[in-house]
Amino acid sequence: MKLLRLKSHLAKLSAIFLLIIIIWGCGRVPTLTEIEPPSSRLPFVKILLDDNTRQHTITLQGDGQMAIDCYKNDKRVSYYSSRPVVVSGEKQMLGLYDRAGHNLDYNIDRIIISPRGNKQYLAFDGKIYRGLLEMESSSGQIKLINIVYIEDYLKGVVPLEIGPTPDDQIEAVKAQAVAARTYSMAHLGQYGEDDGYDLKADITDQVYGGVAVENKEFNKAIKATSGEVAVYKGEMINAYYHSTCGGTTDDIEDVWDKSPEPYLRTVTDDDACKISKYFTWQERFSDDQLVMRLDRYLTQLRGNEIHVGKLTDIIINSRTPGGRIASITFETTKGHFVLNKEEVRWAIRRGDNLESILRSANFTLDLTRNSNGELTQVIFNGRGYGHGIGMCQMGAKGLAAKGVTYDSILSLYYQGTELKKLY
Ligand SMILES: [Zn+2]
Repeated sequence: MKLLRLKSHLAKLSAIFLLIIIIWGCGRVPTLTEIEPPSSRLPFVKILLDDNTRQHTITLQGDGQMAIDCYKNDKRVSYYSSRPVVVSGEKQMLGLYDRAGHNLDYNIDRIIISPRGNKQYLAFDGKIYRGLLEMESSSGQIKLINIVYIEDYLKGVVPLEIGPTPDDQIEAVKAQAVAARTYSMAHLGQYGEDDGYDLKADITDQVYGGVAVENKEFNKAIKATSGEVAVYKGEMINAYYHSTCGGTTDDIEDVWDKSPEPYLRTVTDDDACKISKYFTWQERFSDDQLVMRLDRYLTQLRGNEIHVGKLTDIIINSRTPGGRIASITFETTKGHFVLNKEEVRWAIRRGDNLESILRSANFTLDLTRNSNGELTQVIFNGRGYGHGIGMCQMGAKGLAAKGVTYDSILSLYYQGTELKKLY
């Protein structure tokens, strides 16, 4: 018992000693009851970076210190450190450790880490982010949130969303910046207060790669549109975008089960997206490959085992105003199966990769039959990549290359909208 007590006493002493070493030259700051946003001049967003890891190492990039604010039952304890710290999820609490695994603090509800210097960034597990990192425990996993000015967030989004773009197409990057900013501003708080973040860092919302994906020219383009969003009759729009329309975008209600929007109507971009390698595409399937895909899709959809038998015909029943499939029937020896709107993309998928959906629902079919009249091969001759709603990114690039400015690009794809400067 004595030995145990001595051990725990020693452990406490060594923890205090290590704390002094790690938090070298640091001091406590006065307790605040509210977390101050980074600034009241610019909106900031809260981005969920990860919620599936038990432990993160947080490092400061460059010289200086980071402030580590630990919140426990409404009390705040703050440390400063120039060295990496490890945050670990422990049931409903967090623990703070040094890199050698020595405990520095424990039973923490929430930790907010911020760089103290102006041009310093934080990194977790090798990925660098602007702004602050907030951590909470979620059943032992850490919910890691990046609190960042929206303009800084966009620097880590736009390059990934629009891809490499030559300098003479920079107006397309500006159009993308406005679309991404509009999307972000229109989705603030979408997950509710309990979740504590506005956007996810993957395709659920917008792909966000932090500082590593930033690029000087793109940063300039984002800055040139700072605070600008697209509005329809004064209201921020649902700024959907996709890679390549194939010449024509579409009415939203004909592609998805969503309400019509006056600014998400079919428009032609005069094949401005012809520069895309997916302006046209082709997928070939044998009868067996199509049957396997239909069986798989219908079984998942209906929740019971479906076997369509042999495929006897495919009939395109109707198309959207933009030329995409609105309804298609697969006739089989076990009956007729009708797929509507985008369903066909999810059912058929690509010839070389069953995990990826068909590039678009805009295609014609070539059916080959054997001497007995049985289907042996079906070729999908397609156009475009993506859903076809709102801005066509490759079209934006094609238009930019011809000298069209970003405001005109946006008002082409989002008809009847105008730009509004929010800040
Ligand atoms: Zn296009």
